[in-house]
Amino acid sequence: MSTKNIVCPHCGSTNRIPADRPVTKAVCGKCKKSLMDTAPIELNTSKFNKQVSGNDIPVVVDFFADWCGPCKMMAPAFAAAAKKFSLTARFAKVNSEKEQGLAARYNIRSIPTIIIFKRGREVDRVSGALPQGQLEQWVKTHL
Ligand SMILES: [Zn+2]
Repeated sequence: MSTKNIVCPHCGSTNRIPADRPVTKAVCGKCKKSLMDTAPIELNTSKFNKQVSGNDIPVVVDFFADWCGPCKMMAPAFAAAAKKFSLTARFAKVNSEKEQGLAARYNIRSIPTIIIFKRGREVDRVSGALPQGQLEQWVKTHL
């Protein structure tokens, strides 16, 4: 049986789930909460490192700031898109003002900037808000 590693969105521990058959229920072995929850999770540096390097699924990270109008406008589309990718992609957010080290590490020059990571490495990025449909299409090309 092949498996994939999914990092719990709640407690950050790594879980293995089957990769070769559909999963309808997946609960974290540690905190017992659902691994299928899709609400974008806000990451600090340590959570970021766990999610980005521990997941076998792509991690889609929105670098935003509280004062950024387009970021606020995009937030509902980002959350709605996330629901379509349960156990296939993790959606997360980084507050670029609180986490300036991460913003510097990835050379974030304008916000929102959305980066897709696969097994710890950046594979693609977009600067500027995306509508939900375009965001979903873009993520699908990286699954
Ligand atoms: Zn957990």
